[in-house]
Amino acid sequence: MEIAKVGLRSALEAREITRRQFIEFCSAMVATLALPSRYTTAVAEALEKTKRPVLVWLEFQDCAGNSESMLRSGDPPVGDFVLELFSWEYHELIMAGAGKKAEETLQRIVRDHKGEYIVVVEGAIPTADDGVYCTIGGRTALDIAREVCAHAAANIAIGACAWDGGVVSAGPNPTGAVGLQEAVPGIKVINLGGCPHNPANTAAVLVHYLTFNEMPELDQYNRPLFAYGNLIHDQCERRAHYDAGRFVEEWGDEAHRKGWCLYKVGCKGPEATYNCPTVRWNSGTSWPVKAGHGCIACASHRFWDTRSPFYDRLPSVPGFGVDVKAEEIGWIGTGVVAGAMVAQVAGNVVRDVLRARKDQDETDQTPDA
Ligand code: SF4
Ligand code: SF4
Repeated sequence: MEIAKVGLRSALEAREITRRQFIEFCSAMVATLALPSRYTTAVAEALEKTKRPVLVWLEFQDCAGNSESMLRSGDPPVGDFVLELFSWEYHELIMAGAGKKAEETLQRIVRDHKGEYIVVVEGAIPTADDGVYCTIGGRTALDIAREVCAHAAANIAIGACAWDGGVVSAGPNPTGAVGLQEAVPGIKVINLGGCPHNPANTAAVLVHYLTFNEMPELDQYNRPLFAYGNLIHDQCERRAHYDAGRFVEEWGDEAHRKGWCLYKVGCKGPEATYNCPTVRWNSGTSWPVKAGHGCIACASHRFWDTRSPFYDRLPSVPGFGVDVKAEEIGWIGTGVVAGAMVAQVAGNVVRDVLRARKDQDETDQTPDA
């Protein structure tokens, strides 16, 4: 496989992607990155000038769900743009080459493009018994990751498994599976957790890198703040029902049919951060909570172990101003929860009145200019 020399514009034309669709994609990326809309032109110009860096996509202990999520991402697929923004030299699922030739390609990239190529890693990496539980072309995933990722310009761990081991590392974890960061300490990694990742976020990270030549701002887990900086609960369209104490008690009950809050049937939204409610899935059509299922916190750290059982309610109820336990909500019922809300609202009113009075006092004491 030779590294593609075709410019972005002609590559997009070859895929019958129009200029209008390209600008719409840039605009969507700017919105996902939470940048002001005036950045759309700058992003479009930067992408058109890009030299299409080499991209290597490694798959280890995985289900290929993150590849699928990217390649089947909408109309026109975000994946189409991402495919054309980079020169994809190695991706087991989509490359034509196979066997020895494919592995030689990977070796050539590491040798000839040291410090220039981007690596996307999908899947966990087994470390038990010298990593023997995942081998490709006779080499362990651990060995491949150590070599390929150590010489990359940037590494993106995509999906829960590459971030923290995901389902593969859930107890009892017989293969000693870990995420990329733990398997190869000391390398630069940006983590895009989620099961699977949301392709809009991954595209936005790549677009940010191509436009500004750096990765976006990250949190303590090396996840981009634009995607993982806000609670699901604070962005959820069912939040008004939570605040009013209107909960689904059983799947399929009247409250479920009415679209009330899923907290009592296990929704982990109050403790999970992700932009799932705003970016959504299938070209922004919907997301799981809108469709009627609670959030299982798939973008939270080690969520298979720390957030399960998925249908048990969270043990405390944040947002009521006092530490109300879930069991108490179960016992005291919606009416008292509503009472707690009334008390909280009343408290807010008192606070606002006091603030207003203080402001008025300060205004009265301010000499006229
Ligand atoms: S608990 Fe879940 S369903 Fe209810 S408002 Fe929060 S995120 Fe939405
Ligand atoms: S609703 Fe929650 S569990 Fe479902 S995809 Fe979104 S973040 Fe993941």
